[in-house]
Amino acid sequence: MIELKKYLDFPLEKSYEEPIQKRLFQNMKRSHIAFQGLIISFQVIMMLSISLRPGGPFLKPRRTAYFSMYVILAVITLAVMIINMSLVKRQPLNHRFYFRINYFYMGLLCLWSTAVTLNDQLGGNGLNVFTYVMLTVAVLTISKPWHNILIMGGNFLLLNYLLPYFPDPHGADQTFNNLMNSLFTTILAIAISTIFYRNRIRKEYDQIIITEQYNQINDINAQLHQEVLTDKLTGLFNRRYLEDTVKNFFRKNQEDHHNAACMMIDIDFFKQYNDTYGHQAGDNCLYAISQLFARDIQDEDACLIRYGGEEFLIFLFGNSSLDAGTKAELIRSAVEQGMYHTAKVPKRPMTISIGLYQESPMKETDMERFIFRADQALYEAKKNGRNCVMEYRQQPMP
Ligand code: GH3
Ligand code: MG
Ligand code: MG
Repeated sequence: MIELKKYLDFPLEKSYEEPIQKRLFQNMKRSHIAFQGLIISFQVIMMLSISLRPGGPFLKPRRTAYFSMYVILAVITLAVMIINMSLVKRQPLNHRFYFRINYFYMGLLCLWSTAVTLNDQLGGNGLNVFTYVMLTVAVLTISKPWHNILIMGGNFLLLNYLLPYFPDPHGADQTFNNLMNSLFTTILAIAISTIFYRNRIRKEYDQIIITEQYNQINDINAQLHQEVLTDKLTGLFNRRYLEDTVKNFFRKNQEDHHNAACMMIDIDFFKQYNDTYGHQAGDNCLYAISQLFARDIQDEDACLIRYGGEEFLIFLFGNSSLDAGTKAELIRSAVEQGMYHTAKVPKRPMTISIGLYQESPMKETDMERFIFRADQALYEAKKNGRNCVMEYRQQPMP
């Protein structure tokens, strides 16, 4: 029983019902509006053809009944079409109302097919209209199967209940034929509408799952990409980022004839710090210093990278690289005024040495040259007693 209910109601997890209905609405709205336009045109043609016949539409009651039914269907379809079009434009989507309107409209189409068929019977015509309308409804409906069973089954019962009151003009007893034909049509229509409904739901569900998985993969990829490019301890960019991205910055800045500067920073006597306070304290110190660097360059067109163990690179581009010497000095003194003290001489603050190389404007896009020369300047800074900034100077030719 539960399985049957699930089969005839919403066959998937309930939490997907709302998003699937929204997608169904999106996908079916055009077909529905086009179909309604078609029905209106067809009814207008029928009205014209009946009006142009000798005697006009009101010659006999049967003709008047046909004419009235064409008018009624055209007017109601037009109203539904206008409502649907306004719902399509309105934001946010009111898909529930759309479903209700269409459920009502499909029911009405079924009733209309019964009315026309009964009128046909008086002229000795068969169940053509009932058959094609039921099958059309079966293809177009987006209601749940048990809703369709209700309207199609109800319509079948109504037709067969009323048929005896609309006898064949030639006196033939068509009751059994009509019963069997309309029963077969109704079962077929219910089966078709159920298959269509389940296929549509499945297709939308698959699309939703694919989109969800695609987004998940994208998020994981972005996360992995970020992790690959960042250093775990400090959260700064790492050497891979240097190779992948900073090289491009160089190219772009050189094309724009900008300036660039590179600082190679090394913590002084860091080994001592580690040896005295342990590696964990060393890690904390590295993190704290990296945050100082990040703070100092946050408003600059700059790139901060953990180059090696206790070595960092700062690139400054464009206007940010003007006055790079002063900026390097600011960074150096910010660390000096920090809280970290070296082991051997506790009163002496933790310090850094900086090697600086700059070009104004940039001559080449070679990032390696910047790093190499900043490193050479750093070597000079270490030689010079540490805790200072040294700028790269072209060596005199021997
Ligand atoms: P100098 O002033 O000449 O640069 O002296 P130094 O002691 O800083 O230089 P050295 O190259 O001898 O030592 C660098 C130390 O940095 C050695 C290593 O233990 C430490 N180090 C490198 N990476 C890390 C890290 O990730 N965590 C910690 N805690 N220490 C690190
Ligand atoms: Mg070092
Ligand atoms: Mg060092």
